[in-house]
Amino acid sequence: MQFKDLGLDNRLLKNLNHFAFKEATDIQQQAIPVAIVGKDLMASSKTGSGKTLAFVLPMLHKALKTKSFSARDPRAVILAPTRELAKQVYGELRGMLGGLSYTATLIVGGENFNDQVKALRKHPKFIVATPGRLADHLEHRSFFIDTLDTLILDEADRMLDLGFAPELRKINSLAKHRRRQTLMFSATMDHAEVNSIASEMLKDPKRISIGLSNEEHKDITQSFYLCDHLDHKEAILNRVISEADYRQVIIFTATRADTERLTKELAEKSLKAVALSGNLTQTQRNTIMSQFERGVFKILVTTDIASRGLDIANVTHVINFDMPKHMEEYVHRVGRTGRAGNKGTAISLVGPKDWESFKRVETFLQQDIVFSELEGLKGKFKGIKPRKPAFKKGDNSQKKQRPQAKKTNKKPVKHDKTFYKNVAVGDAVFVPKKKVVKSEPPASDE
Ligand code: ADP
Ligand code: MG
Repeated sequence: MQFKDLGLDNRLLKNLNHFAFKEATDIQQQAIPVAIVGKDLMASSKTGSGKTLAFVLPMLHKALKTKSFSARDPRAVILAPTRELAKQVYGELRGMLGGLSYTATLIVGGENFNDQVKALRKHPKFIVATPGRLADHLEHRSFFIDTLDTLILDEADRMLDLGFAPELRKINSLAKHRRRQTLMFSATMDHAEVNSIASEMLKDPKRISIGLSNEEHKDITQSFYLCDHLDHKEAILNRVISEADYRQVIIFTATRADTERLTKELAEKSLKAVALSGNLTQTQRNTIMSQFERGVFKILVTTDIASRGLDIANVTHVINFDMPKHMEEYVHRVGRTGRAGNKGTAISLVGPKDWESFKRVETFLQQDIVFSELEGLKGKFKGIKPRKPAFKKGDNSQKKQRPQAKKTNKKPVKHDKTFYKNVAVGDAVFVPKKKVVKSEPPASDE
């Protein structure tokens, strides 16, 4: 189905045309007609399937076709879990604003607060934000959202994982117009807290779920390698990188410190790598992301701050140097490649410390994963056997009945070790080992 068949405003069709977007993706085909008529929506579809436009287009269409509840205040707020993702969504929104007389602004942490206050005082119609900084501005009364007509939560489950529930509740209670529409989007929604916050924030939502989040992503080839220890992981990483025909790679590590250590090691091998982690300043984060997007660096080493939503066309490979703790993050991390119909490769290194996380991923993907091996780099680690379940006190039903050993009156036979002393066996003469007596100085009282 084409965008022009979805009933979108002509001005939006023109902007879509500018980007050569003609055919709507599945999620766009299903979500846009529902969102256009003002219904609340909880939608999920695989990574890279075009969810951003699935909420940006109906939001803009509604703004073009209906009168706003207030002349001054913003019409819509889009919330995203990370600054990088908010920035990207803002970019995509800007792309669709061409030829329209609307203004939009980006409100994320790490940027100058007063500059943002100034921007908000200009009454932008659309705001893309991270929840923490937006809540700060609401507290500061930099702007008001009482008359907001659309609230959108991108990657809602991640916002909850990051502990943004209080901010989301606050924003929800302040955006109190009774005709407010709320849309939630993510590739993973099977999260208990998501349902509870959705029941607070959404009114009788339509649920759209295209494919299951654990369904195989046909465009992404996934492989797993067993690793003994850190050095082994690094050896496998180096081999994989040297053999891969990659354009750009994202490597995920468990900690911020690891991003820096690994980047240094890659740089020593003359690989163009850069580390992105949460302890950098916002200016540094912005510079690194824009350099990576422009291809200045071929390899980005990062933590889960880059696992969600980021859309960088040239990322052909994702490497999990460490497995993610939450299995949803596995889906999102590997989803940084294989986007919009392109092919991608995901490689995961599984050491003893990653085993539990790996098993969760294996269960989630509902596949018996076969490990790949590299010639000359086979390790010893073969996984950890599950522990036997502990017995419950008082529960005798599962207790294995050990066969009772028969008691006999036989005395244990004593073997005389001196028996073979100096007896020739073949050519050799067996001499029992003498006990080694430590040559300690004799005690003074002896
Ligand atoms: P998701 O949020 O589902 O992970 P995105 O919204 O980031 O996916 O979109 C992934 C990529 O697909 C982006 O580069 C986007 O510009 C592109 N895209 C979106 N919709 C279409 C479409 N209808 N046709 C072609 N490309 C599209
Ligand atoms: Mg997205």
